[in-house]
Amino acid sequence: MLSSLRAAASRRGFATHSTVRGFDGAIGNTPLIYLKTLSERAGANIFGKAEFQNPGGSVKDRAALGLINNAEKLGLLKPGGTVVEGTAGNTGIGLAHVCRAKGYKCVIYMPNTQSQEKIDLLKMLGADVRPVPAVAFENPKNYNHQAREHAESIPNAVWTNQFDNVANAEAHYQTTGPEIWEQTQGKVDAFICSTGTGGTLAGTGRFLKEKSNGKTQIWIADPPGSCLTSFVNNGTLDRSGSSITEGIGQGRITDNMATFVKQVDGAFTVPDEQTIATLYELLDTEGIYLGASSALNVVGAYELAKKLGKGSTVVTVMADGAYRYQSRLFSKKWLESKGLQGAIPEHLKKYAVL
Ligand code: PMP
Repeated sequence: MLSSLRAAASRRGFATHSTVRGFDGAIGNTPLIYLKTLSERAGANIFGKAEFQNPGGSVKDRAALGLINNAEKLGLLKPGGTVVEGTAGNTGIGLAHVCRAKGYKCVIYMPNTQSQEKIDLLKMLGADVRPVPAVAFENPKNYNHQAREHAESIPNAVWTNQFDNVANAEAHYQTTGPEIWEQTQGKVDAFICSTGTGGTLAGTGRFLKEKSNGKTQIWIADPPGSCLTSFVNNGTLDRSGSSITEGIGQGRITDNMATFVKQVDGAFTVPDEQTIATLYELLDTEGIYLGASSALNVVGAYELAKKLGKGSTVVTVMADGAYRYQSRLFSKKWLESKGLQGAIPEHLKKYAVL
């Protein structure tokens, strides 16, 4: 089954070996990094999948390629066409890369709360970027609805709809899941990550559950303000609180998530204080420069490994690097404004150089 999945992944243009024909072939096949310090502290094996090594710098390159390939397959996108998406940034960056490589135009609607680095990069990649006020999904002015309306208003355009188009989770079922299974030789007690669209969690989780006959546990690490913890634990959609993390946290059950959420074994919330302390610690001890969602995922993996006990193996996703958030995450002033200076251990404060 694995080899046929890898062949399918290869047909879809994902990287399965080191020489590839086009830019989009370099997406996927990322290393699995053993996180030594935290593993030793937990007495377990904690691995982070280095998704920051994708060409667009994040896990969302996989979804972007999957969504575009799917739109082509369905005949929704033809040469010279336009891809329109609502995104916190990373899916847009992935789409913008793939659009350049395949000759499509790219229009990106994003909430105006996102980092300047992501907006700049999208513009450099030739995307037509439209920052809009950050309002809830129920509001017709939400960035996703504006993206859909834009696509509907012009010919040969497709709204890729990353939240509710299950081609997103399918990309992870075809690639991220099989890669983790192969890299751990099937010895993976648990996979845990946070969710935005839920594509990474649901696609990877479904593959690992199937392959292990249900033995691999799948957990969600949730930022404050996101409803997944309450939904998994008691069926409610509690959105109270807020977080400094970008690209994760959800106020509803997306279609990508709905296909899988009943199989999720557990969920818990990770406070921003723990996320930021771990972000700085990973830089100091492992030399890895991560975005906040990745640091949150690693906290989740560490807490879960402690729960599962000595010798367990837990895998998570390091979704992107800190480069696209550094004006925030490494700025003393910004950290102070979020009340997070005190969360960084004294000996690590030297890294806040901006
Ligand atoms: N981390 C980051 C930095 C992201 O941009 C995203 C996607 N917005 C995620 C995690 C979550 O991935 P998914 O959409 O597959 O749930």
